[in-house]
Amino acid sequence: LVKLIQKVLQENDPSLKVVFAVGAGISTSAGIPDFRSPKTGLYHNLSKLNLPYPEAVFDIDFFAKNPKPFNLLCNELYPGKFLPTKFHYLIKLFHDKNLLKRCYTQNIDNLERLAGLPDDKVVEAHGSFVKNHCIKCHEELSIKEFRSFLVKDEIPKCSKCKNYVKPDIVFFGEALPHEFFDKWDEDLSDGIDVCIVAGTSLQVYPFATLPGETPDSTWRILINREKCGDFEMNSRKKDLVLLGDADEIASMLIKQLGWEDDLN
Ligand code: NAD
Repeated sequence: LVKLIQKVLQENDPSLKVVFAVGAGISTSAGIPDFRSPKTGLYHNLSKLNLPYPEAVFDIDFFAKNPKPFNLLCNELYPGKFLPTKFHYLIKLFHDKNLLKRCYTQNIDNLERLAGLPDDKVVEAHGSFVKNHCIKCHEELSIKEFRSFLVKDEIPKCSKCKNYVKPDIVFFGEALPHEFFDKWDEDLSDGIDVCIVAGTSLQVYPFATLPGETPDSTWRILINREKCGDFEMNSRKKDLVLLGDADEIASMLIKQLGWEDDLN
C-alpha cells in the first residue's frame, strides 16, 4: 500500500482512487464504544437496560413503544463530546493528497466531518445525529430543541403531533439513505483502485457487502483488530490484512508515507 501510494505521489499523478469503508472501531479511541468488542462494546453493556435483546435499542418498532433505552444511549453518544482520532486524520490526509474518492462510514458520530472531510466525500450509510425527525409525521426538531429534552432527561417529542422524535440514524427495520446506494454505484462504475476497510466487524448489511462488490483488480486492505468478512477466507490475491489498533496502524502509515508534517 505504502509503495503504491508513494509511486503515485512521486509521479505527481493523483489518479489513484481510494475508498474507505469504516466502522465503530475507528472511533473507540475517541471514547465511543463499538458494538461488538468483548467487555467494552455497547452490546456487552446493554444488559443494564433490560432489553429483550441487545439490538432492540436500535430497532424502530421497539423504539416506537419504548424509546427510553435509546435515549439513555443518545445522551451518552450525542455529538459534541468527542474528537476525531488519528485514523480520522489519516482519511483526511488521503483527501488532502487528492487520493480519496469517498469515505463510506457506518458511524453516526460525525467525526469524519469534524476531522475536516467535505460533505461530498463522506457517505454516512447509517445516517447521523445531525438532524432529528418525528417518527410519525416526520416534522423536524432542531438540534437545540432535541438537546433541551435530553438535558432534562425527557424523551424528545414532536411539537406538532407529540409522537417520539429520533435522530436521523438508521435503525434496524429502516431503509438506508439513497445516497449510499447512488454514490456506491457511481464509485464502482468509475473504478476503485484501493478499498480500505477499517474498524468494522462487517456484520451489518447491506454495508458489509461493499468490500465484496469491488472487482478483483481492487486492492483491499483490512485494518482491524481481527479478520472479518471474506478477508477470513484469504480468497483474493490483492488482499492485505493489517491486524492491530487502528490509530497505531494509522500512525505507522502516516510515518511511512512521510505525511507527518502534514498533520494539522
Ligand atoms: P462493531 O462493533 O460490530 O465492530 C467493530 C470492529 O472494530 C470489531 O471488529 C473490533 O474488533 C474493531 N475494533 C474496535 N476497536 C478497534 C481499534 N481501536 N482498532 C482496530 N479495530 C478495532 O461495529 P461496526 O462493524 O461498525 O457495526 C456496528 C454498527 O454500530 C454500525 O451500524 C454503526 O452504525 C454502529 N455504531 C456506531 C458507533 C459510532 O458512530 N462511533 C459506535 C457504535 C456502534
